[in-house]
Amino acid sequence: MKAVCVHETGGPDKLVYEEAPLPSPGPGQVLIRIRSIGVNFIDIYHRKGMYPASTPFIPGMEASGIAEELGEGITEIKPGDRVAYAMTLGSYAEYAVVEAERLIPIPESMEFESASAALLQGMTAHYLTHSTFPLQKGATLLLHAAAGGVGLLLTQIARRMGAYVIATVSTDEKAALAREAGAGDVVLYSRSDFEAEVKRITAGTGVDVVFDSVGRDTFDKSLNCLKPRGTMVLFGQSSGPVPPLDPNILNPGGSLYLTRPNLSHYVADRAELLQRAGDIFRWIDEGSLKMHIDGVFSLRDASEVHQLLESRNTRGKVLLRP
Ligand code: NDP
Repeated sequence: MKAVCVHETGGPDKLVYEEAPLPSPGPGQVLIRIRSIGVNFIDIYHRKGMYPASTPFIPGMEASGIAEELGEGITEIKPGDRVAYAMTLGSYAEYAVVEAERLIPIPESMEFESASAALLQGMTAHYLTHSTFPLQKGATLLLHAAAGGVGLLLTQIARRMGAYVIATVSTDEKAALAREAGAGDVVLYSRSDFEAEVKRITAGTGVDVVFDSVGRDTFDKSLNCLKPRGTMVLFGQSSGPVPPLDPNILNPGGSLYLTRPNLSHYVADRAELLQRAGDIFRWIDEGSLKMHIDGVFSLRDASEVHQLLESRNTRGKVLLRP
């Protein structure tokens, strides 16, 4: 089969499109013929070696496709079923082997592309807003990179829960998208001081929660945007990791809370996975959650796609087609 492999970690040029052995499903596993691949920022961390994966490996954590061959002991899935999955490494390929218990059936009305675009970032937006910090009606939040994949979905979900979203983005075009998704205020953090802007917008009060996936460049100022007893949710590091910190920094801002969540811990069992994926697929199906698919590229162009994502030149979701 054709696949993108990483033989040594590093820059986008380390994504090599080549021939790879067809994997074979073991007990409880399914061979998927991949039809559409979701690109996520976590793929960059794997490629760079920031998140460990032993080389050589096939990157990619999300795809949709057709169940082609079943390992022993599978009852819920049959060959020909349309399925999607997230958080299993190896999706930048024509085929992948996935544990049956990680597979989500795709609703009949949904295209493969939407299914591969929605799951990882959608379930992330879901757990952050429903479980990490369950948003109450009237809550105010600060969300960085609001026109990104997670960002546009989280903005819409927060709005439907009745929260007020203060969004940051780097360009006017991204600002328009964030507004369209439901952000009440949009700050161009590339041009103005977002801490000062948040204080102005909230009349000095601060926000209940910050969802920060940018990390190094925004973390300190994000903490300063919180109300006393507010919650800092650091869920990514698109600009680089936050340096080690002294827990005492949570005191002067008003007994702040800090958490560093990860999707895998919020879809750890099948019931929770199905519940979050079910909500996301249903909201898309009924039209209340809109996907923004920025581009669909050939799998052989994965390295170009990584360059675009890393240089902040994407909006919403980017897909690869095997
Ligand atoms: P995005 O589409 O959001 O792309 C990243 C965005 O981050 C860019 O478009 C850019 O938006 C912003 N950004 C700010 N500074 C930088 C920088 N120095 N380099 C690159 N980008 C920068 O990606 P995803 O939606 O795939 O993921 C968003 C974040 O969420 C990532 O950090 C990812 O790791 C994290 N994540 C965490 C999960 C978890 O469970 N913990 C699960 C899924 C994602 P702008 O131009 O507007 O600044």
